[in-house]
Amino acid sequence: MRHQVLNWERSGLPIHSFFETIFLKLDYVSFYMPVAKRCIFCSSQDNFESVEHIVPRSLGNLHYVLAKGTVCANCNNRFAHFENRVLSSHLFLQERKKHHLLRARNQVQSGELKAIDMQKFLLKMAYESFYKSKRKVWNHMEFTEILEFLLEGKNNPRFAVQPDSRNLTFKAIPGWVDRFRLSRNHLKLEYANVDERWYFRFQFGTLRSCIRIQ
Ligand SMILES: [Zn+2]
Repeated sequence: MRHQVLNWERSGLPIHSFFETIFLKLDYVSFYMPVAKRCIFCSSQDNFESVEHIVPRSLGNLHYVLAKGTVCANCNNRFAHFENRVLSSHLFLQERKKHHLLRARNQVQSGELKAIDMQKFLLKMAYESFYKSKRKVWNHMEFTEILEFLLEGKNNPRFAVQPDSRNLTFKAIPGWVDRFRLSRNHLKLEYANVDERWYFRFQFGTLRSCIRIQ
């Protein structure tokens, strides 16, 4: 055993590729375990096309996903509209360029970051990440207003992005495997719970945004 470890160390494999092998096996279990097909947003029981990326794929997230059968294609398409607008805003484009997540040949029309798009972007990630990684909390949370906001699209001032979250103490939402992988892409998903109020904070590189969810 000791010999094997030495051999492995000598092979010059970066330590993360060793972890990746184990993680991929865990992924296999979580991706292909049969799930009861029911959309966690609209309760639809059909039209499931793919896994759902909790953090958009174009921010480098390949593994923090919900299994096929969790979010229906209709909801997925609906969310793509505001996600694309957020990801092609000046702020996100700059940060994506910085982390080489934007290819020169991809001509993206940049735009302003709209408050309502950012609110939805954050709430969708909050809802999905709690479902994935903090299921017990998720089961006890009241999401009716968030779902109405995401599905019906009416502007809801209650979900305004918090201008400053520095005085709150945050904890990570994803488990350590997901946290490790997300951190390699400069991504962080956190929550704070103060006086029965719940906050969700998202970080991508130097961009950081917080929203009150309950
Ligand atoms: Zn749905």
